[in-house]
Amino acid sequence: MTQALLVINSGSSSVKFAAYDVAGPGSALARIANGRIEGIGGQARLRVWGQGGEPLEDRRIRVSADPVLGPEEAFEELFDWLDRHAAGRTLGAVGHRVVHGGERFAQPARVTPAILAQLDAFTPLAPLHQPHNLSAIRAIAGLLPDLPQVACFDTEFHATQPWVARACALPRPITEAGVKRYGFHGLSYEYIASVLPDYLGAVADGKVVVAHLGNGASLCAMQDRRSMASTMGFTALDGLMMGTRCGSLDPGVVLHLMGAMGMSLQAVEKLLYEQSGLLGVSGISGDMRTVEASEAPEARQAIDLYVYRVNQQLGSLAASLGGLEALVFTAGIGENSASLRRRVCEGAAWLGVALDEEANEAQASGARCISTAGSRVAVWVIPTNEELMIAQHTQAVLQGQGAHDWRSGGA
Ligand code: AMP
Repeated sequence: MTQALLVINSGSSSVKFAAYDVAGPGSALARIANGRIEGIGGQARLRVWGQGGEPLEDRRIRVSADPVLGPEEAFEELFDWLDRHAAGRTLGAVGHRVVHGGERFAQPARVTPAILAQLDAFTPLAPLHQPHNLSAIRAIAGLLPDLPQVACFDTEFHATQPWVARACALPRPITEAGVKRYGFHGLSYEYIASVLPDYLGAVADGKVVVAHLGNGASLCAMQDRRSMASTMGFTALDGLMMGTRCGSLDPGVVLHLMGAMGMSLQAVEKLLYEQSGLLGVSGISGDMRTVEASEAPEARQAIDLYVYRVNQQLGSLAASLGGLEALVFTAGIGENSASLRRRVCEGAAWLGVALDEEANEAQASGARCISTAGSRVAVWVIPTNEELMIAQHTQAVLQGQGAHDWRSGGA
């Protein structure tokens, strides 16, 4: 009987998932379906697509708003769907995206109750993601206690950064207590690093900046396909302006909000994580498509600021690498917004970026080069695939190989 793996990326109101066939040790994983459960806590729906993107399921499901019961009911529906549709397969394991692994987890880990308790400690550092990542693991453990579960961390890829890129200029005891720049979106960067040679040849091992521009957004500077610096730091708040997160902010603003303005810790947390970024500046939406479609001057300004910040921090990461040979766009905005890419590339002309306007505007899917033949910096759009990375790590952990070695290819 074929074994299947399930990959889960669990958020506040939705769960994204993908199922893979495992053919045998070391062999490639084939995606059989992917989908999402949306609207948890409200009008929940289960949506599933097949191998070729064809819709397989789209129906209302009953999921309560209870934070413990809700995820359990959602996963019950999902396992029920898999039982009925994954004929001839047994589910061998579930791999999870877990946003924060702190310093302790530099590799994917098979989850035990003790590990789960350690991961709970990082919840205050990633309040938007970590509690939902962990409640998915708990819900599945409640339903299928013997099913192996593997946690894959977004912080892990950045463990190669030099000390100067990781350090905060704070007193030693605070740094030693773990207040460091961890970096995030590591599973996305790891996937891009694994496929870079397919597209960039020898330049893949040169000075590359990858721009993961989605609801969350960050840049990663790579040399030899290893992380050297990232715009995200101690938490996933730092760096670029995002859908609802503020990005880099003078720490004095936080002191002012809590001191002179008397805001509580919870109110400041909500402001910086959920009410700022594109949403806060435009006053319209945190969704780039909606902001781009608006004629309101505040929407224009929100995009101006977004682009300004990307260009400013691209310059900073190029400085940390001592140059720039390639720029890669990925994630929802990076893969789909030609106008955002054009504006970022125009602002990066001083770095040697020359955009091929036609290639940038072409309605194409898949990886593609969008710079001119004469551009000193190669510019690419490469769709990310965090789910495949998680599936590969999960397979490797179960086969007792430790982490999947993405540098050996086969992604
Ligand atoms: P992600 O978190 O990677 O799913 O990315 C979500 C972001 O991508 C949202 O801000 C979407 O509005 C944005 N996005 C998706 N498609 C497009 C598009 N065609 N044009 C502009 N933004 C897009």
